[in-house]
Amino acid sequence: MEISQKEVQKLIESQTVEYKKSLSLMKEALEALCGMINSDIATGSVLFGVSLDGGISGIEPGNLDSAQRTLAQHIRQKFDPPIICIIAVLECKDRHLIQLKADRAPGVAYHEYGGRAYIREGSTTRQLSYQEKQHLFRKRNRDQHNGPWKCDRCGSFVGMLSSIVFTDQGIKKTYDCDCGGEFWPAT
Ligand SMILES: [Zn+2]
Repeated sequence: MEISQKEVQKLIESQTVEYKKSLSLMKEALEALCGMINSDIATGSVLFGVSLDGGISGIEPGNLDSAQRTLAQHIRQKFDPPIICIIAVLECKDRHLIQLKADRAPGVAYHEYGGRAYIREGSTTRQLSYQEKQHLFRKRNRDQHNGPWKCDRCGSFVGMLSSIVFTDQGIKKTYDCDCGGEFWPAT
């Protein structure tokens, strides 16, 4: 696939793209990818072959097929639960870039890379603490929970929650209590 430098620049300005000059930075790149898919946006991509200032350096010369295979194998081994990742070779100014694109799998609270869960905040990536992982797990599993519920502020119990809101992503359940708190699974 052919891509112009302008299109590359546009990608770079996005919050959901990490760019790395070289494939030797694979580990850092995949930590960032893990952090992006674990954020609320739940999607992310990595572009190899672009330097920090947005210059097109291209990836190291060599066998593109084997580079893709190595990446695919590494991703399969290191992500848990497994992620669905698309690996594409882009061509820009006669140089090759490799693009990875991934999303958080439906129903998964967070993915781990190499046994650690990461989160992206702005353009930095950091590790999630045990408490944060628990919080994400509870928060992202609420949609599958049938009750009863307890408010984290006033402490009131309800058997069933029926409030929904209409958003641009469709109909969503809400967990807001009248007191300003939020309902969480009581059990
Ligand atoms: Zn309340």
